[in-house]
Amino acid sequence: MKNVLIIGGGIAGGSLALQLIEQNINVTVLDGGQNYSSVIASGMVNPMVFRRMNLSWRAAEMLPYARSFYNDLEQKFGIEFLADLKIRRFFSSDQERGYWEKKQHQSRYNDFLTVHSDFHKQVPNAKSEFGSGLVKSAFWIRSEVFMTGLHDYLSQQGVLNTAFFNENLFNASKLTYCSEKYDAVVFCCGSANNKISFFEPANIQYNRGQILELESKELPEGESWNRKGFLLPLGSNKFKLGATYEWNEPELSITTEAREKLEVVIQRITDLPYKVVGQQVGMRPTVVDRRPVLGMHPKHKGLFIFNGLGTKGYMMAPLLSKEMVDFMLKGTPLHKEVEYARFIK
Ligand SMILES: Cc1cc2nc3c(=O)[nH]c(=O)nc-3n(C[C@H](O)[C@H](O)[C@H](O)COP(=O)(O)OP(=O)(O)OC[C@H]3O[C@@H](n4cnc5c(N)ncnc54)[C@H](O)[C@@H]3O)c2cc1C
Repeated sequence: MKNVLIIGGGIAGGSLALQLIEQNINVTVLDGGQNYSSVIASGMVNPMVFRRMNLSWRAAEMLPYARSFYNDLEQKFGIEFLADLKIRRFFSSDQERGYWEKKQHQSRYNDFLTVHSDFHKQVPNAKSEFGSGLVKSAFWIRSEVFMTGLHDYLSQQGVLNTAFFNENLFNASKLTYCSEKYDAVVFCCGSANNKISFFEPANIQYNRGQILELESKELPEGESWNRKGFLLPLGSNKFKLGATYEWNEPELSITTEAREKLEVVIQRITDLPYKVVGQQVGMRPTVVDRRPVLGMHPKHKGLFIFNGLGTKGYMMAPLLSKEMVDFMLKGTPLHKEVEYARFIK
């Protein structure tokens, strides 16, 4: 395989492009230039799924791989975008604290949950009636800085073309686009996959997410506070407050309703004062079984999909893009749970 066309330059298409370039493949990335998700994402890499206090899918493999992937890219791009993150989860019930209490001594949680005996019943300025626990090993990526660095790098390499994919110019059997011949074409269109007439069975859905940008001299700068939503300190008295999860909302536009919901999130955590200075919106690409979708089209050899990163794109894209490249170049089987083949009867 020598020439690969990638449609979509979010975290999925971007990381795949970088992994292919590492393998000396000629890559072209065609990106519509519209922010759907990767640019406005909070970029948190959190090993936990809090509701039942479970480890995120393959977190023990994904997290260290992602950290070293982004560390290397900081060197390559010559910019900084990675920072350690202390996440404090405020429990919403005795039951939720009970899940943590049970798991904190299990060996698979050693790297991710701090062991507590009193669960910080008192945290200054926070509503902590059920206590709180601290997550270990989390970090976050300044997504806007990262995505700008990524696109600058791909442009410098002569790889990035800003344009929407035009299906009339594409021949799926011959793998030609605008008369150029490719050995593989990979669709990484995120939530816009439903506008492409390939890989429909995966039924990639969109889940709209909104966040507020806050300014405050009083809110804590050293910890991300989390309780049915999150407060992420960005430095210099700036914060992100998120996020909404909205189904069947196709418009990429901010709403007053979301702002009101998010203000309830912060009121559940603290009464400290803040000012809302902005609001952002994005679309998470999600799949019914909550697993990403990777694989090759059953009829069109050389046509691939890499999508469905859902709420955890920044954690999953690095390792999954590596596994995708191994699949494309060496035929190494993909993880069973992500295979596109699961949608084909
Ligand atoms: C509010 C919010 C907060 C989030 N917070 C986090 C977080 O803290 N941590 C985390 O890991 N994840 C987070 N996410 C999820 C994360 O953003 C997604 O998992 C990830 O960005 C998906 O990446 P993607 O590349 O698949 O899709 P996208 O980022 O949507 O990228 C798709 C790209 O494809 C391009 N494209 C689409 N169709 C075409 C076409 N026809 N032709 C050419 N180009 C096309 C688009 O222009 C876009 O650039 C958050 C998401 C939201 C909405």
